[in-house]
Amino acid sequence: MKKLLFLFLIFISFQLYCQSKNKTENIFIITFDGLRWQELFNGADSLLIDDSGYVEEPEKLVEEFWDIDPLKRREMLMPFFWNVIAKEGQLYGNRKYGSKVNCSNHMWFSYPGYNEILSGSADDERINSNDKIPNPNTTVLEYFNNQPSLKGKVAAFTSWDVFPFIINEERSGIPVNAGFDCAEGGDLTDREKLLNAMIKEIRGPWGGVRLDPFTHHYAMEYVKKNSPKVVYIAYGETDDFAHDGEYDQYLYAARQTDQFIKELWEYVQSHDQYKDKTTFLITTDHGRGTVPKETWKHHGTRIEGADQIWLAVIGPDTEAKGEIKVEGQLYQKQVAKTAAAFMGLDFSSGENTGEVVEAMIK
Ligand SMILES: [Zn+2]
Repeated sequence: MKKLLFLFLIFISFQLYCQSKNKTENIFIITFDGLRWQELFNGADSLLIDDSGYVEEPEKLVEEFWDIDPLKRREMLMPFFWNVIAKEGQLYGNRKYGSKVNCSNHMWFSYPGYNEILSGSADDERINSNDKIPNPNTTVLEYFNNQPSLKGKVAAFTSWDVFPFIINEERSGIPVNAGFDCAEGGDLTDREKLLNAMIKEIRGPWGGVRLDPFTHHYAMEYVKKNSPKVVYIAYGETDDFAHDGEYDQYLYAARQTDQFIKELWEYVQSHDQYKDKTTFLITTDHGRGTVPKETWKHHGTRIEGADQIWLAVIGPDTEAKGEIKVEGQLYQKQVAKTAAAFMGLDFSSGENTGEVVEAMIK
């Protein structure tokens, strides 16, 4: 009898062990720069889509992005989010249902937002500009890179050239391919060689931000070649086109980024190292204004609503709850600890660290 009881206890503890272990072995954190929740959940904005002040060819834009039904409209803008993540993952931040996601920093611009996402807490005292200052805070990426099992398996690809400072490339030892950086190393693929040649020829419209296809394809090539376990990708075009007042290009950039993420997801789901073992956490660094209308171009503390953001997740440990339609409040600072929890780790950046979003993990 005692023997039976013993075997039974072993069986139960094994069951508990299996239940507690996550399937996620790889984590991809992906950000859009300043993509509003308004576009993510409602598609193109009725007040902007045919405004010739912001759009070059209103008729063409209306044809590509307009439907009277916002559910159709958002699918036209971000088909991967609405056909795949909304069916297999979770989407937070539709304020129509009371699902709120906010910055907890009070700056509502890029460096403070990315610092909050990656280091797991706001730091208004020290991170209050976009200056190229090495981040004094430890990001969850650095934390991952300091785990023996993940050392050297963390990489970042970003359109904005401030990220080597936000991630503190020097201290963390994480390779950050940012801005107008080329791919490095002795074993460059043909595609990397072509990207390296083209990035010197295609300057793009902005000084410190390259066009997103470079960031995306550098990341894809690296993932295919090195199979990293932790990847951070920061796309940037949405914010810069918005500042430039080009609503058409802002929409095109959002749709293109959606397609980039689709390509990445389809790649990981078709390769053994990643398939059904990879979680994508996707968010944005800040929101933008809505009223008055022209504030869609801007963000920062003076712009009402620029702290309103969104959060999406898809992966083997996440229940398919789709668009979250219950009231709740999440914060940007919760991303870092949640990312670590998916990987079975407990990250902390001090007493203000945002909590794990438990609802994301089965
Ligand atoms: Zn901006």
